[in-house]
Amino acid sequence: MPELPEMEHYKLLLLQKLRGKTVSNVEVNREKSINVVPEVFLNNVKGHQIINIERKAKHLLFYLDNGHVLLLHLMLGGWMFYGKDEDKPDRTIQIQLSFGNEHLYFIGLRLGFLHIYNSKADVEKELAGLGPEPLSPNFTFTEFMALIEKRRGRLKTKLVDQQFLSGIGNCYSDEICFHAGTIPKRELNELSSSENKQLFESIHHVLKDALKHGGYMENPLFKGDTLTGGYNNLCKVYDREGESCLRCGSKIIKEMISSRKTFYCLNCQK
Ligand SMILES: [Zn+2]
Repeated sequence: MPELPEMEHYKLLLLQKLRGKTVSNVEVNREKSINVVPEVFLNNVKGHQIINIERKAKHLLFYLDNGHVLLLHLMLGGWMFYGKDEDKPDRTIQIQLSFGNEHLYFIGLRLGFLHIYNSKADVEKELAGLGPEPLSPNFTFTEFMALIEKRRGRLKTKLVDQQFLSGIGNCYSDEICFHAGTIPKRELNELSSSENKQLFESIHHVLKDALKHGGYMENPLFKGDTLTGGYNNLCKVYDREGESCLRCGSKIIKEMISSRKTFYCLNCQK
């Protein structure tokens, strides 16, 4: 499932492609992916300009010139492609937004969705329960410590908890723990102050590094896009069960923590 770096990366690329462009047509092939009847969706989107795109947690928000907002969550298996008809991936398209002869294709939306809200206030209400954005300048070490003091639970479970912090999922929680040198099943409130400091730094380092390398999505966003997915080969522990740790050579372990796949190095992480 795409996490903060993937969605932030998508946002930056889509802003370049779509800001100021008018949606010339809308095709909804899977009604379950939207939250209103297709006719209402079409009436509120077609003919309207995309004035801005923001990311909140693992969502993208597309702001339209009529005040409506499209809220995208790709969930597991969802991805996007932007291009002309002839470049369209050979996949089932759940939703297509057209901009003249170029289109934004939404693919693999099974649990994922593209919902429409009447206003920014409505979508903000929907997302009100989300925790702080880890890369926001407002997210300081003091705020991080205040969050930790309020919560109990294992490191892995808390890092992926969207009410604790926004945008971290299965992959980056493991990468952050590896970078911090901490075993993900440790209890959050039992970490020492130096371990907390390191964890805070590792959250920033790993997310920024992943964003710089285009995240881990497998498919390019458009023809000739060589940046998207650059982090796929840079994961140090995630999905590397039985492979050698890149730091010490020990075998990477996979363990279920609160029914989530978790990968770590027992030698490098304490
Ligand atoms: Zn190791």
